[in-house]
Amino acid sequence: MAGKVIILCAPSGSGKTTLAKHLLSIKELNLRFSVSATTRKRRDGETDGLDYNFLSIDEFKNRIHNNEFVEYEEVYYNIFYGTLKSEIESLITNHNIIFDVDVVGALSLKQYFSSKSLTVFINPPSIGELENRLRRRKNNSEEDLKERLDKAEKEMEMKDKFDQIIINKDLNISKDEILSVVKGFLNK
Ligand code: 5GP
Repeated sequence: MAGKVIILCAPSGSGKTTLAKHLLSIKELNLRFSVSATTRKRRDGETDGLDYNFLSIDEFKNRIHNNEFVEYEEVYYNIFYGTLKSEIESLITNHNIIFDVDVVGALSLKQYFSSKSLTVFINPPSIGELENRLRRRKNNSEEDLKERLDKAEKEMEMKDKFDQIIINKDLNISKDEILSVVKGFLNK
């Protein structure tokens, strides 16, 4: 079953990272996380090379220029995120890959991998709850918060373009739900 692709997409603060980590902890799925490149600042608790490859804007733009990305996006103003070809080439031969990207990135990756991929949208229970979660994170300024909430609303409008939608009200239920969807796809 190696060589299949799970593309997770969800507004920032929707619980997606926890769900991705849950899937990665299940050995039989043989999943590896595609570490994206980004120009945003590293948050407390994040490790360069594990959570993201943190690049300067100049480095990122150089790599765009050299055609090194499968896809990239200016997700927030002047903050770039992208999937490097080198990252997936080394993983795909022997593993399934899981991606955590924004809506535009998810739809680009779906086009790239087509039937080998499954797109899953994680919907927060409500915008109010999403705001609470982002405020608890405390890493964001008011301005960042507003930008993230605006983007979340736009992303939620696109959820019907995904193969599967999971409403993340209760993390434990969502963990079971996503596991069953992913297992079903990988074993197909
Ligand atoms: P955060 O800053 O909260 O880690 O991520 C912000 C947004 O960027 C999230 O929606 C995340 O999924 C998205 N993102 C992370 N990596 C990539 C990537 O490689 N490509 C794209 N298009 N979006 C990404």
